[in-house]
Amino acid sequence: MTKFVFVTGGVISSLGKGITAASIAMLLKNRGYRVSMQKLDPYLNVDPGTMSPLQHGEVYVTEDGAETDLDLGHYERFIGIDCNRTSNFTTGRIYQSVIQREREGGYLGGTVQVIPHITNEIKDAIRTQSRPDIDIAITEIGGTAGDIESLPYLEAIRQFRHEVGAKNAIFIHLTLVPYIRAAGELKTKPSQQSVGILRGIGIIPDILACRCEIPLEQEQKDKLALFCNVPKDQVFEARDVANTIYEIVTDTADQNMDQKVLELLDLPIKPLEIDAWRKMIRTLVDHPKGILNIAVVGKYTHTPDAYKSIMESLTHGGIRSEVKVKTHLIDCEAVEKLGPDALLKTMDGILVPGGFGDRGIQGKIDTIRYARENNIPLFGICLGMQCVAIEFARNVCGIADANSTEFSDTCSPVIDIMEAQKKITHKGGTMRLGSYDCTIKEGSQAAKAYATLDIKERHRHRYEFNDAFRAQLEAKGLVFSGTNPGTGLVEIVELPELRWFLACQFHPEFKSRPLTPHPLFSAFLSAARDYRDARG
Ligand code: GLN
Repeated sequence: MTKFVFVTGGVISSLGKGITAASIAMLLKNRGYRVSMQKLDPYLNVDPGTMSPLQHGEVYVTEDGAETDLDLGHYERFIGIDCNRTSNFTTGRIYQSVIQREREGGYLGGTVQVIPHITNEIKDAIRTQSRPDIDIAITEIGGTAGDIESLPYLEAIRQFRHEVGAKNAIFIHLTLVPYIRAAGELKTKPSQQSVGILRGIGIIPDILACRCEIPLEQEQKDKLALFCNVPKDQVFEARDVANTIYEIVTDTADQNMDQKVLELLDLPIKPLEIDAWRKMIRTLVDHPKGILNIAVVGKYTHTPDAYKSIMESLTHGGIRSEVKVKTHLIDCEAVEKLGPDALLKTMDGILVPGGFGDRGIQGKIDTIRYARENNIPLFGICLGMQCVAIEFARNVCGIADANSTEFSDTCSPVIDIMEAQKKITHKGGTMRLGSYDCTIKEGSQAAKAYATLDIKERHRHRYEFNDAFRAQLEAKGLVFSGTNPGTGLVEIVELPELRWFLACQFHPEFKSRPLTPHPLFSAFLSAARDYRDARG
């Protein structure tokens, strides 16, 4: 029978609930338990796929093509499991299915209400994790205790625990214990109030994880235990980490928080093996081969969360090359204004990420031209690959009006809407999403990086390279080194005579893990390291 851990947050948002939950899950997995993770989001969008990255940060795409919250990226990176459609539910999705059932006559004769119909639907969403192949399911409730929109979720998890019993479901509350500089002390009152809100709903946390800047003394832990009605040995510290979020795993392990979770769930404590993880952190902290400066030239650079998986993948690739990657988020509109040289000349490598709409596209194209002409390692992803094709068509093949039909009704649509997308009118969940096969050309940079010719990568796009231009671009040296075996859709292009110049239609950043960096990120950073060293 699957046991459940519910993680709630208190006092403020952005406390790092997702990372705390993922850290616990990682430790439980390493103790030999089969874990799953789930995020319940209280907003009304059916999924985050229709939201601007400026609003919500990155949209994380799962293998099975769900557009999900970026916390799922942390789950996959920390634990090394693949999430799926059942790993993320929103209030919009919950209401959508209840309302659809109502229209189908599923509640005929009845009044449909938040309690019990919405709360039952939430419990069903949670129960999707109750499976023979899952020992422990960790469900994170988005939002903060006290939010009006979180209430149905809190009521649902209260009922859930009531139904399955205290040994089968526990509550972890992540709260803030702020350090007040003027008073020179940590304050426990906000946490007491947050737990008070939960108590009013009928939830008493089993474990308190206290986010703090400085160590929590025993005296404060005792105070929190007494006023929050939590046993003393169930109050833990979630202190800010010095170097990397991956240290949260080792901090959690050092406090034996995962052991307490197992104890409360009445499960045997099996041995823990995280030496490889500790070694990975040491390499990251020591970075014996120095620092690499990598530019990410994008259009959502004021919201670093929009590039979460890319930034993490760069970190992972850096670990492989034993360097620390210093990522510089550069606004492509600034490149348009100031020119690439002013912003990019000190960079060891340039990454042009994905995006939507024509704002800043010229800046991306100028960036790619600069990298190509100066032989600076370049990595294009999704929209980045589309811009590589446009730049090459314009500046090497002389097709002056080469463009994407996403941005103009040009007569030279080097990038065009996919056939299957032409008839689609609805926006939500209708892009080409999730994992597809790609066949790699022998002897290419891509083949060297992957060390295999058959790969699967995740996608999120509506436009593709237009095959009508392939021969023209190929004649001038662009190599089409990855294609979908079924449709022939172009997945990877590269310029083999340059140091490293490769762009892909898919999103490799969704599959990179700290202990197994993505091969394209590793290859890009290794080329960037060689370039840095060659310049002296
Ligand atoms: N806007 C482009 C498309 O839809 C690229 C999408 C992306 O970068 N994720 O094809």
